[in-house]
Amino acid sequence: MKRDIIAGNWKMNNNKEQTVALINELRPLVKDAKCEVVVCVPFTSIETARKALRGSNIQLGAQNVHWAPKGAFTGEISADMLAEQKVKYVIVGHSERRQYFGETNQSVNARTKAAIAAGLKVILCVGETLEERETGKTATVVTKQTLEALEGIDKLGLKKIVIAYEPVWAIGTGKTATAQDANDTIAIIRKVVRKLYGKNYARSIRIQYGGSMNPGNVKELMAMPEIDGGLIGGASLKAKDFAAVVNDR
Ligand code: PEP
Repeated sequence: MKRDIIAGNWKMNNNKEQTVALINELRPLVKDAKCEVVVCVPFTSIETARKALRGSNIQLGAQNVHWAPKGAFTGEISADMLAEQKVKYVIVGHSERRQYFGETNQSVNARTKAAIAAGLKVILCVGETLEERETGKTATVVTKQTLEALEGIDKLGLKKIVIAYEPVWAIGTGKTATAQDANDTIAIIRKVVRKLYGKNYARSIRIQYGGSMNPGNVKELMAMPEIDGGLIGGASLKAKDFAAVVNDR
């Protein structure tokens, strides 16, 4: 049986003190969650968050990982470094990384492989821009992103992956894809997984929706059969809102 997964993406927010405060407020609010709960914190908060999360049902996540085990990659963090810090999940290929830091499907694939090899689970992000949606390219774009991100990853590796469908135009904008549109696009992504790995893997992989998911729209989105969770940006920075998403899904 697969379990829904709600993950918070804190992005570049929260110093150590704020990390402790947010986690302490969140812990009791989600303690009875029926789904998996993850918070993906900035690198500088990882150690603080790990301590603050001890004994809770919330798992620790990071927001990026490099593909190389070590070396001359100024500003980057390796998968082993994250694993050493007991990080469980890492976001790879977030649209902000693609948009501002030149992330490509190939670098997303390399980062994903490195993370899996180090024992991490990956939240692998795909999604179309507004222009791509308006010109009817959504299916082509998410198919290509998914195919290329999964290139060379075997079935064992796939089991470590959660895909997040995040239409770029819905991230941080307050605009949400309609539940039907989100469902339909996730069905396209699932079809790609089915082609690559077969129907059992397609059925069991979890595919989240992300893009302005909040307490007001979570029920409608999560009622859709293809949506197995959410990747939450803005609403994950407020304990009550994030908890409402976790508990109302
Ligand atoms: C995200 O950053 O992954 C995201 C979905 O952000 P928001 O919820 O703020 O749209």
